[in-house]
Amino acid sequence: MRASTNELLHAAYGQYALGAFNVCNLEQVHGLFRGATEARAPVIVQFTRVMRDYAHPLMLEQLLRGAAMIYPNVTFAVHHDHGDEASCADAIESGHYSSVMIDASHLPFEQNVAATSRVVEMAHRRGLAVEAELGQLKGVEDEMSVEGKDALLTDPAQAEEFVERTGCDSLAVAVGTSHGAYKFSGSQRLRLEVLAEIKRRLAGFPLVLHGGSAVPRDEIERIRNSGGEFDSSASGVPEGDLSQAISLGVTKVNIATDGRLIWTRVHREFFRDHPGEFDFMQPGRTYMKDFAGFVEGKCRSLGAAGKSPTLDHSANPSRNHAAAKPGASASLAKPSASSALKSKRKGRREHPKFAAR
Ligand SMILES: [Zn+2]
Repeated sequence: MRASTNELLHAAYGQYALGAFNVCNLEQVHGLFRGATEARAPVIVQFTRVMRDYAHPLMLEQLLRGAAMIYPNVTFAVHHDHGDEASCADAIESGHYSSVMIDASHLPFEQNVAATSRVVEMAHRRGLAVEAELGQLKGVEDEMSVEGKDALLTDPAQAEEFVERTGCDSLAVAVGTSHGAYKFSGSQRLRLEVLAEIKRRLAGFPLVLHGGSAVPRDEIERIRNSGGEFDSSASGVPEGDLSQAISLGVTKVNIATDGRLIWTRVHREFFRDHPGEFDFMQPGRTYMKDFAGFVEGKCRSLGAAGKSPTLDHSANPSRNHAAAKPGASASLAKPSASSALKSKRKGRREHPKFAAR
């Protein structure tokens, strides 16, 4: 069942984080929804601008319509990841998304404020939430690439001003992670002290961690052993750092690389071990199973397992073929939590800065 990104974020804040998984083919969608079913965890399904170009927005939309019917117990929000103004406008107009990310972090501060504000106005008019980004992550994701020298940590004072001026609903912060499989060099780790200062200034406001993949050593070794070329410095965010980040306001953790590493390992090993095979469904089945297991485990480590709202099947038939409206939400398990959430959201919308404290 579809849910509102904002409701999921505010229900999670300070207690657990939502896994936000980048997926764009049917094996990934099956794996994601199976994993979320097993963990009974709400999830955010996200498509980047490049993925929408790759698969076609309508194909992605139909995949999720199918998934919602096949896996009726999964509560999920649909998010457009790393959009520009044009792709955000398209996603908002499509009626298929609950939230969009405007990534204008490569622009100077004032231009980022202006671009984000324009998307916020457009999105809020239609009831969608907006994630913005301040600071820059290095690394490569889809066709976006930022050199290490251009990476910039988020300035906490600027973050406070940015949120106040733009009215965005969540903020992606650069606190030391990178996109891709090489997140840290040497002993470098997540900059928790920067996160702590951002939280002090923006208490109650959902922060988003991009580049949240763990890049497990075992996956890298198996890929190397089946012909892949990763060097041994490939590394990601350790689980322990994630739980500290959650206590410091991180409410959404973006995960793309880990899903791609599993895909690479499964297919490399399959074709290494079965050089005469050409049936994509055989490794495809393994991928769906392994990706589902990964999603389930990730939801557990983020604390989101068992947090799926109770579904009201009488009000929302699980096999309703009609398109879900953006912002349509699942009923939360505890009415008291739901009403507290509503008043908090309402207050925050009017006074984004002050009601958050
Ligand atoms: Zn990202």
